[in-house]
Order: sequence, then structure tokens, then C-alpha cells
Amino acid sequence: MSAPSKRTCQACQKEFAVESDDITFYEKMRIPAPTWCPECRTVRRMSWRNERSWYRRTCDATGKPVLSMFRQESGYKVYEQNYWRSDAWDPLEYGKDVDVTRPFLTQFGELLKAVPEPNLIQKNLVNSEYSNIALNLKNCYNCIGIDGGEDSAYCFSGILDIQHSFDIYQATSTEYSYELIDCVKSNSVRFAQSCEGCVDSWFLYDCRNCTNCIACVGLRSRQYCILNREYQKEEYEKELVKLDLGSYRKLQELNAKFEELKLRVPRKFATIIKSENVIGDNIRNSRDARGFDIRDNAEHVRYSYRVHHNCSDIWDAIVAWNGAEEECEAMSCSGKRIVYSALIWGGFDVQYSYNCFDCNNIFACVGLRSKSYCILNRQYSKEEYETLLPKIIEHMNMMPYADKQGRTFGYGEFFPPELSPFAYNETIAQEYFPLSKEEVERKGYQWKNPEIRNYQMQIKNDQLPDHIRDVPDAIASQTVECGHKGICIHGCTTAFKIIPEELGFYKKTGIPLPRLCPNCRHCERLLKSNPLRLWHRKCQCGGMESGIRNQELGKTPNYRNTATHFHGDKPCPNEFETSYAPERAEIVYCESCYQSEVL
Ligand SMILES: [Zn+2]
Ligand SMILES: [Zn+2]
Ligand SMILES: [Zn+2]
Ligand SMILES: [Zn+2]
Ligand SMILES: [Zn+2]
Repeated sequence: MSAPSKRTCQACQKEFAVESDDITFYEKMRIPAPTWCPECRTVRRMSWRNERSWYRRTCDATGKPVLSMFRQESGYKVYEQNYWRSDAWDPLEYGKDVDVTRPFLTQFGELLKAVPEPNLIQKNLVNSEYSNIALNLKNCYNCIGIDGGEDSAYCFSGILDIQHSFDIYQATSTEYSYELIDCVKSNSVRFAQSCEGCVDSWFLYDCRNCTNCIACVGLRSRQYCILNREYQKEEYEKELVKLDLGSYRKLQELNAKFEELKLRVPRKFATIIKSENVIGDNIRNSRDARGFDIRDNAEHVRYSYRVHHNCSDIWDAIVAWNGAEEECEAMSCSGKRIVYSALIWGGFDVQYSYNCFDCNNIFACVGLRSKSYCILNRQYSKEEYETLLPKIIEHMNMMPYADKQGRTFGYGEFFPPELSPFAYNETIAQEYFPLSKEEVERKGYQWKNPEIRNYQMQIKNDQLPDHIRDVPDAIASQTVECGHKGICIHGCTTAFKIIPEELGFYKKTGIPLPRLCPNCRHCERLLKSNPLRLWHRKCQCGGMESGIRNQELGKTPNYRNTATHFHGDKPCPNEFETSYAPERAEIVYCESCYQSEVL
């Protein structure tokens, strides 16, 4: 390898750059530069992560009914959680010799189909069985991609430490809260996005250290504010009673005013907090990083999404956490020197492996626990392993796996999409990069037609009581129709139930019942989040006022600056990379103009 270069993506045929710090990293890891562009690589990894598509089937060991990510007819074997973790079976029994007459990844694909998988991915759960890709939960229900939680439900993706909370997407340290997106340290906060350190509030956007605020945007350390206007404590309390947020109709009315305010207050081009030399969005306390949702002392990160807690040297990861180091093309891996792998839970020097725990020096293994020097689940001595490995890598390059599209997968490519146990629309790829059936198939991914569901609705959507005080306790056992009625691309389950703990929370907090099924609620939150894409744009601060162009489009009223900016009354010259697409209505400011107005 040598100088930075432009390459043509094998998947989308668009040109992409391999930068000089990429090359330094690849050389240090002794791995080749990629042949797919960053976005195609992200989608390819995502097509291996099934978070929310579960099916009823039987355990292949005990015959008991289980919920599983793997459909019965998928051809994948499934063992129920406890059996899978026991010594009742040995994954090494599925070991295979390497066959140099066939592509290596074909053999990996066969092994993946042969070795039993746990029904869902769970570790250290107490009374929280209805959860997936979940660690350290107690009394939780339908929580996914989460580490550390108690008495919570419907919490999804990148969540750490959550208590008594419902319907949360990407948050850390949350208590008694509801409908949060990208929040940190929230206590009794409902309907908030991109907030930190807020308490006892409803409908907040980009607020910090606020208490008792309702429908506010861009506030710092304030209390008793409604729609960005400050009240005396007594007045505020009277207003809160008048707002009557236990009524679904009134809640919607307030939400409409809040959404309108969100468009009138300038926002920063990206949520980047206490970070240096970073490009992307939702980056906190990190250095030298490029990607999305990177937090808590991450360093030297590229092309990655959801990298949390003391990770360093991470290239192309989705979900890396807990001190992960030197990863490349990894999906949900924690450990050191993990490349081209998915679901690796601790360990080091792992390549091309799937769902292994605390292993080191393994190559193309599936379902191993605490093993070393294995290839295709066959045990070797250290010497044998070290002699065989370079030969396999050479074989992978001499006879690469080729998919139906004719794309080749030599050493250095993540697993081919067609070997994924999941269809595109069963995975998070469909959530972040939604495609039609035709597009999915054209791109060489798999598609699954939605399940036909024939639920007997006990409560039609329009029969739900408007006010939480009028909701009978008996509703907790009934089948409620989802407001989207299956006509959406959210994986709508058409019906849903309100679990008793959830109903108790709504009643105690005075929140009206949700009108959508958990999948649709999750997708509505995703729609409020910016995409995992960047655009190069100019600061929209016009000097005295802003948002003029958008006003011409009839979308946003002018915003009049309250302070003098460094650029005087001329338009701001600053440019940036932002996840706000150019056609969007929000007023997007550079760091300097934003700080002048909001802090
Ligand atoms: Zn591409
Ligand atoms: Zn739905
Ligand atoms: Zn829906
Ligand atoms: Zn500016
Ligand atoms: Zn400005």
C-alpha cells in the first residue's frame, strides 16, 4: 500500500477515497484496503444484525417453543439460551478441515448453518427474556441493544444504564423517562431529544440542565419555561394543569407547537460535545473520530456507528464498546484485534468469526466459548495454526468467494450479504437505509415478505380513551390495533398490548396511551433522528437574521440574531459536514454562530 487513492466501489460503482490515515491503520493491522465504499460497507455489516425480527419456533435440542431471530424454515439450528450456554453440546464437534478446492467463505457459510445458534442474544438477564442483544437486565421487556437496565421496556439501541423508563432510543443514564432520543442523564423527562442533565420536563430539544420545562428548544440551565418563555413557579404550575397533557388530543396540540418552535430556533450543524478533531454526529467526549454516535472517551475512530466507552483504533464498526481496540469491519464486537467478524464478546485476535465468547486466535469460527487456535471450529496447536493461517489467506485471495452479482470476497472483505442468516428487511439495514424489495434484490441482498397476521382486535385504535385517567386497568390484557394498521414500512405488527408495568407508568406519570405498536414507535423515533449521512454545507446565518432562503420556500420564518457574531452583518462564511440534508427546513448554524445565540 502507499499513497491515498481513489477507488471504485465494488458494490455501487461510485468512487470513494482511501485516506492516508486509513492506509496507516491498514498497514499497522496488516490488512488490505477496502473495495467497497464506506456506506456500502456500513450497509453490508448492518445486513447481519437482526435486532427486532423474532419468530416462534422450537429449540432443536429440547423441542421447547422459543422466540428466535432465526425462522424455523431458515435452515439455521437454534438452541434455547440456557441449553446453548451449557456443556451439553460442543461446538467443536462441527469442526471442518479447510478444503482448498473450494472458496473459503463458502465453507464458512456451511459452518454457520450447521452450528446451533442461541435463540436470541442475551447475557446476564433476570426476568427479561423478551429482549435481544441485551446484557445485564432485570425486569425488562422488549429491550434491544442495551447494556444495564431495570424495570424498563421498549428501549432500543445503544442504551446504557436505564431504570424505570419506556420507549427510549439511544440514551445513557435514564430514570423514570419516556420517549427519549439521544439523551444523557435524564430524570422524569418525557418526549425529549438531544438533551443532557434535564429533570421533570416534557418536550425538550437540545436543552441542558433544565428542570420543569415544557416544549422548549435550545435552553441551558433554565426552569419553569414553556415554549421558551419563562414563568413564575406558580404560574407554570397553573399552565401545566391547563395543558392537561394526560389527554392524547391536547398532547398532540402541544407537540405541534413544539415542532414549530424547533424550526424557528437555530441548531448546531451536529451534536458534537467536548470532542476534538471529529466529523459526524452525536459525538461526545471523544477525539479524532469520524462517524455517528461515538461517546465516552473514544479515540481514532473511522466509518463507525455506535462506539461507546474507551474504544480506540476502530475502523468500520457497528457497535463497539467496553474498551474495544483495533477493530476493522466488525459488527457488535468487543475485544482486541477483531476483524471481519460479528457478535464477538471479548477476546483478541479474532477473524471471520460469528458469535464467539472470550476466544483468541480463532479464524472463521462459530459459537465458540473460551477457545484458542481454532479454524472452522477445528482445534489446532499454536504452531499448526500459525502455519495454516497465511495459507488460508492466500487461498482466499487466489480463489475468492464470488456472489451472484459477481462481486468477489477475498481476504479483507466482511461476510458476503448472501451468506447472512437474515433478509435485509429483518435487519437494521432496513431501518437506517430503507429500500424496496426490488432495490434490495438488485443489490444482492435477501428480502422476506412480511408475515400475514390476523389478530383479533379487542380495541380499535379510535376507541382508545383520550385521557389516561379514563383508561381501565383491564386494557393491559387486551389486543389493541396499531394506528398504522400495517400500512407502513416499519415492520408494523398491526396490533399491540400494553403491559401492566407500562400502564402503571402511564397512570402514575399522566401520559396518555401510545397509539402505535412498539415497532412503529421505534421507527417514528428513527424518523426524528438524522440519517447516517453527511453533506457539506454552509452556515445559514445571514448576519442579522437567518432562514431567508427557507422562508422563500415557505417553510421557516426568519430568525433574528440576538447577539453580534464574528462576521458582523455579512453572511457567515463557515462551512461544515452535517447530517442535515440541504433541502431540510431547519436553520443550521456553525459552532460559532450557534454559541453566540444559544448559550
Ligand atoms: Zn458503494
Ligand atoms: Zn404498527
Ligand atoms: Zn408503522
Ligand atoms: Zn456561522
Ligand atoms: Zn452568525
